[in-house]
Amino acid sequence: MKTELSEKLFAKAKDLFPGGVNSPVRAFKGVGGTPRFIARGKGSHIFDVDGNDYVDYVLSWGPLIVGHCHHEVMREVQDAMKDGSSFGAPSPREIQLAELVRERMPWVEKMRFCSSGTEATTAAIRVARGFTGRDDILKFDGCYHGAGDPLLVKAGSGVETLGLPDSPGVPADLARHTLTLPFNDLAAVEKLFAERGGKIAAIIVEPIVGNMGVLVPRAGYLEGLLATCRKHGALLIIDEVMTGFRVSSGGACGLYGIRPDLVTFGKVIGAGLPVGAFGGRADVMDRVAPAGPIYQAGTLSGNPMAMAAGFSSLRLMTPAAYEKLERTSAALAEGLARAAAAEKVPVQVNRVGSMLTVFFSEKPVFDAASARACNTKRFAAWYHALLEGGVYFPPSQFEAAFLSTAHTDTDVEHTLAAARTAFAAAA
Ligand code: PLP
Repeated sequence: MKTELSEKLFAKAKDLFPGGVNSPVRAFKGVGGTPRFIARGKGSHIFDVDGNDYVDYVLSWGPLIVGHCHHEVMREVQDAMKDGSSFGAPSPREIQLAELVRERMPWVEKMRFCSSGTEATTAAIRVARGFTGRDDILKFDGCYHGAGDPLLVKAGSGVETLGLPDSPGVPADLARHTLTLPFNDLAAVEKLFAERGGKIAAIIVEPIVGNMGVLVPRAGYLEGLLATCRKHGALLIIDEVMTGFRVSSGGACGLYGIRPDLVTFGKVIGAGLPVGAFGGRADVMDRVAPAGPIYQAGTLSGNPMAMAAGFSSLRLMTPAAYEKLERTSAALAEGLARAAAAEKVPVQVNRVGSMLTVFFSEKPVFDAASARACNTKRFAAWYHALLEGGVYFPPSQFEAAFLSTAHTDTDVEHTLAAARTAFAAAA
């Protein structure tokens, strides 16, 4: 496979950006080698600057649930752009998207749009603290909630890939208010709250973890978190930046029947343009400025092009679209497990809807510790063989792969053929 142009650009990029990238996991640190510079995408495929064609399972880390350059999304974004790219004043497309969100997720009684998932989670934490008058928050080892200071503690994703437990630059005084526990261990949460529940403003959780690779919540776990919060007067923040509108039209809350206090969104809600949102109980959201005293703001918040992209993409996600996505995703996951078994490579394929991870492990993977125990060397060998076979998976064991409605049976067949060769290379 030719990679000369990617190599040349990466050499230049290293001179311009830290590590050659504008977000760490793009640097291929978890698997080694040169990151591909992507020239364009269409449907389920991306094409790099050297002309290589890949079936794309990164999809910009999740947002592109209808694939690259869907004609309806493109048209609506272009129409919005013609009207003006940003006003810094209320505009009608914000209402359109917000009404669609509330229709699909009635527990989001009021919301605010911002420009990234990080902004959404940072604001949600501030709102929970302002509402409860408490400072501590609880998060789970391996859950990533963006690059905001209070949440960069045991944060999974790129932090895990680089082997950094926590980030320098986050003041210890701030980090001490972020309590962490293992994911999927409800008894540990109940014990902590029994000891200091009166100090905890909120639990924030990825309902299905995607940033340690995919970790599935045990039956009753999310319900237990909600009950614990209720008992102790804390808020439950479900971080649906990755899962929102992806695992079902109601996100993970819809899938598991959870009615949280606050929810955060990003990725799919903006279909590849910079969007985030936080929302939930009206009495909590009415404490946000200017309705209330808790400050939050953004020059580009509710950006018309981003609103148009999110709205048109979500409108395409009909019940039939979710069914198709589930079928394709199940076929891929089952095929990957079969291909690994045929080559006698022990793996665990964790999947919920169109998010999945192939863990190189003999044992079930259900929390950060069991994910860390995976064979990352094998993952790297498998990853590079897949890439050679024209399949672009996330370049880290600790990330989720995503499918879109643009992925076809032919894409899955192609992927499984490449995966068989890749498992043989990793054996
Ligand atoms: N929360 C979750 C669950 C995420 O997966 C991410 C990003 O991967 C974020 C928050 C941060 O979103 P952004 O990268 O848009 O700031």
